[in-house]
Amino acid sequence: MYLMLTEEQELIRANAREFADKYLEPIAAQIDEESRHPAEVFEKLAEMDWMGIPFPTEYGGAGADFLTMAIICEQISRSCASTAFTLSCHTAMGAGPIYRFGNEEQRKKYLPPLCTGKLGAFALTEPGAGTDAGAGTSTAVLEGEEYVLNGTKTFISAGPLAETFMIVGMTDKSKGARGMSAFIVPKDAPGFKVGAVFKKMGLRSSQTSEIIMKDCRIPKANLLGKEGEGFKIAMGSLDHGRIGVAAQATGIILASLEESIKYSKERVQFGKPISANQAIQWMIADMAVALECARFLTFSAAFRSDQGLSFTKEASMAKLFTSEAAMHHASKAVQIHGGYGYMKGFKVERLLRDAKITEIYEGTSEAQRMVIAGGLVR
Ligand SMILES: Cc1cc2nc3c(=O)[nH]c(=O)nc-3n(C[C@H](O)[C@H](O)[C@H](O)COP(=O)(O)OP(=O)(O)OC[C@H]3O[C@@H](n4cnc5c(N)ncnc54)[C@H](O)[C@@H]3O)c2cc1C
Repeated sequence: MYLMLTEEQELIRANAREFADKYLEPIAAQIDEESRHPAEVFEKLAEMDWMGIPFPTEYGGAGADFLTMAIICEQISRSCASTAFTLSCHTAMGAGPIYRFGNEEQRKKYLPPLCTGKLGAFALTEPGAGTDAGAGTSTAVLEGEEYVLNGTKTFISAGPLAETFMIVGMTDKSKGARGMSAFIVPKDAPGFKVGAVFKKMGLRSSQTSEIIMKDCRIPKANLLGKEGEGFKIAMGSLDHGRIGVAAQATGIILASLEESIKYSKERVQFGKPISANQAIQWMIADMAVALECARFLTFSAAFRSDQGLSFTKEASMAKLFTSEAAMHHASKAVQIHGGYGYMKGFKVERLLRDAKITEIYEGTSEAQRMVIAGGLVR
């Protein structure tokens, strides 16, 4: 099997690289240092029609597909993993569930703003329910024409920025995860508020916060799918989200490789560039192999989803492999840079901090192994 991008996809890849070089590369270190969301870059992403890449044009999207999203996110992540994640999480987890599981009225109301510049977010995790997401205790009770939501969600990406949230709450506690339902919650819903904003090790220009719902009222019409389908909707959305994280991790491997080649040719020790040493060349060769594998797994999971084939296992495999490879090779890139690689101002230092989160969110590496093994031994 050989995966080749079309001419159009190659062009999009070149455009995304140019975009990242122009708008992100010059500011990425600074927005990391300041933990600042680059709103000005998101305005440009909207101008490029990249805020709703895989959604039909009738909802304001670009009418492309998930493979295109993965291609773009990889190139953006090469310059700024935070921006790539904010974009992919918004697309796959904020807007994605509304497109995939929403009715026509919900799609027409909520997708156009999200596809043209506003951010969407996904709120499943709770302080006591991470990997075991079905143990969430947030509740949603139907009162007349409204649902009343109560509970706290944590670690929510774009929490302080998003316009619309996909939130999962319990409508029937007696049914466990099958009693969970999904809702579209606008940020201005009464009783909805953003809680603590977290300071992070890496991915610092992506904003992460708590979400607090205290008698938060939303119209009955904002139920996504049917009551009891919330867990299924969340897991289905995570499948797409994992392709986004895999693309982000692939971009980190790409950047690790490029930085390592460049630095090793410039740095002279013992009278010759360190790239002349086989020990350095082997690390670089391993990075190049990992990049090809990462791309292949990511793009083929995206391709399967675009073809309407099952892709849960493939998305988990892509996320697992790329995130662990990103962590390993970002660390090798720091190694190649020696002491300088440990210092602020060298890109590889940020790459290593940004790589770590890819092994944790949208399901930890252990959770991905559970998904993959579950399909094999069941
Ligand atoms: C920066 C950031 C952004 C995030 N963005 C979002 C978001 O937008 N929306 C959202 O809903 N969530 C988000 N999350 C939450 C994220 O998905 C969770 O942190 C993740 O799923 C792990 O949950 P936890 O942190 O509670 O860890 P835990 O579930 O407590 O896990 C702790 C450790 O135990 C392991 N473990 C747990 N259960 C098992 C088991 N059965 N077998 C083996 N090992 C196990 C885990 O793999 C991990 O190593 C974000 C998190 C971070 C850090």
